[in-house]
Amino acid sequence: MDSAAATEGEPASENVPPAAPPAPGDSDDRDELASAIPAVGEDTPLAKALADNARRRIHLTGRQFPKPARPRVITVSNQKGGVGKTTTTVNIAAALAQSGLRVLVIDLDPQGNASTALGIDHHAEVPSIYDVLVDGTPLLDVVQPCSAVPNLHCAPATIDLAGAEIELVSLVARESRLQKAILAAATAGHDFDYVLIDCPPSLGLLTVNAMVAATEVFIPIQCEYYALEGLSQLLKNIDLIKLHLNPDLHVSTILLTMYDGRTRLSAQVADEVREHFPNEVLRTTVPRSVRVSEAPSFGETVMTYDPGSSGALAYLEAAGELADRGAARDA
Ligand code: ADP
Ligand code: MG
Repeated sequence: MDSAAATEGEPASENVPPAAPPAPGDSDDRDELASAIPAVGEDTPLAKALADNARRRIHLTGRQFPKPARPRVITVSNQKGGVGKTTTTVNIAAALAQSGLRVLVIDLDPQGNASTALGIDHHAEVPSIYDVLVDGTPLLDVVQPCSAVPNLHCAPATIDLAGAEIELVSLVARESRLQKAILAAATAGHDFDYVLIDCPPSLGLLTVNAMVAATEVFIPIQCEYYALEGLSQLLKNIDLIKLHLNPDLHVSTILLTMYDGRTRLSAQVADEVREHFPNEVLRTTVPRSVRVSEAPSFGETVMTYDPGSSGALAYLEAAGELADRGAARDA
C-alpha cells in the first residue's frame, strides 16, 4: 500500500492540519495571493464557485478572532425543530475555537445532537448537564474536551435530560439553575471566551434556563417558507424573560441557514428577515450543503470534516462576524 492510499483512509480531520496563525500584517499577502487566482467567466459556474471558495479560504483561514472583553454567553434558540440550531452551535463553536478562542458548548437538548456532532461520549452513565441542573454538580466536572478541535469543550446531554423538564418543576430557583452553574464555573476560574448553549426545539424550562443564563440570543432561521412563523412567539418569550428574569437578555445575532441560491424563495425569505432585523442578521448566509449534513455522522463538525467546503467557509465567516461585532461593542 502506498502512502497516498494510507492517508486517504484516515478521517478527514487528520488530513487537515490546523492553519498556522497569520503573521502580523499579513493581510496584504492574503490580498495578493487571492488576486493571483485567475478570473473565471460566469459561463462556467462550477469553476467560478471553486475560484470564489479558494479566494474566501485564503482570506478566512488562520485568522485570529478578537477575544471578547468578558466571556460571551449565547443561547442558540428557535422553538422550531430542524432549522439548524445544533448545526450552527457546533460549527460556530468550532470556528471560534480554530480561530484562537476558548469555547464551551452546553448541550441542553435531550437528543444530545450537539454532543454527537462534537464526538463527545454521552451514553447514559456519563456525567452530563442533567447532573448540573438537577443535582447541582459543578459544570466544570462534566465538561469534556473535543478531540478534533483544540480549545473546544462540551458539557454533554444524555438521555436523562429528557426527564429534567419535569424534575426541574419542583426544584428551587428552577429557572436559574444553569445561570448559577455558569457563574460558579466563572468563580472557579473557567477561562472560556464563548459559552454557546444549544437549545431543544421548545420553549420549556430547559430553554428558559438557557435564556436566563445567557445575555445574547442567537437565532438561526431556515430560508424556507414558514421561516418567520413562530418567530413572534419566540420574541414574545424573550421579552417576558427579559422583563421578569434577565434584564440583560437581547437578540444579538440572526443567521440565515440552508440557503438555496437556486430558488427565489430563499432570496425572498432572506430579504424579508433582513428588512425586519437589519442590525441583527449577519451578512453571511449558510448555504444548503451535503458536507454540512454528513459531518455529524462522523462525530465531527464540518470545520474539520471538510474545511474547504462552502458550508465550512460560511460558518467561519459567520463566526468571524460574530467575534468582530462583539469586539466593536467592547471598544
Ligand atoms: P435543529 O437543531 O434546529 O433541530 P439541526 O441543526 O439538527 O436543526 O438541522 C436539521 C437538519 O438539517 C440536520 O439533519 C442537519 O444535518 C441539516 N442541516 C443543517 N444545516 C444544513 C445545511 N447548511 N445544509 C444541509 N443540511 C443542513
Ligand atoms: Mg438540535
